[in-house]
Amino acid sequence: MEETLVKYKHCGQKIYVFSDRVRVCPICRHTVSFGLLDAPVVVPAPFTNGHRVACAFTIGSALGPAHLGEWSDSELHVGISNSAGLVFSYTLAGVRQDATGWERSVCIQLVPPCRPALEESWDAEIQRFSLRPEWSSERFEEQREFGSCCYGFALSFINHIRSLDNKAGLSRDEFTRRLVSPHMSSVSRYIQVHRAVSQQGFFIHPSEEQQELGIHPP
Ligand SMILES: [Zn+2]
Repeated sequence: MEETLVKYKHCGQKIYVFSDRVRVCPICRHTVSFGLLDAPVVVPAPFTNGHRVACAFTIGSALGPAHLGEWSDSELHVGISNSAGLVFSYTLAGVRQDATGWERSVCIQLVPPCRPALEESWDAEIQRFSLRPEWSSERFEEQREFGSCCYGFALSFINHIRSLDNKAGLSRDEFTRRLVSPHMSSVSRYIQVHRAVSQQGFFIHPSEEQQELGIHPP
């Protein structure tokens, strides 16, 4: 997914292509030229370097960013970054601390910037929390039975920080619905458009009327 996705309007439609393919409109087949105000716009990739986002909930996939679209996908792996970009995650081997490997991730920053005291306690707490016996490699299978593992580790840590702040814990459903799902649905949309452009060279966004009628342009 290295290509840059851009969008522009032609023939009254929103057209998505890779940046090196903006020459011929896929609808009218005419060579396109743009003025200053209608030049193609880059569609930013929703992935960031997880080692550069401090104190975040970080979602990665061992198979690469194209596999981040399905939240239910069992290939997803989640972790917590500290202020130095070290990503802590719970695996079969216990809690790992990765300085590399999360370069193309979905990152949800949890500590607002300019809260140095909170960052400091976040860093100390994640170190301590990782050493708790419930996150040992021996307990992995047991945690898996509760459906927790990496997600359970990350959410338990977030709830631990919330409890230090006298805030109630979030259930897995609540956390997923409030924080994760909105991010993941935009990631899914980006991946779908990217996939369509890879396969057919372009993607035409259905106009609102067409969406309502369930009509999708060829
Ligand atoms: Zn056209």
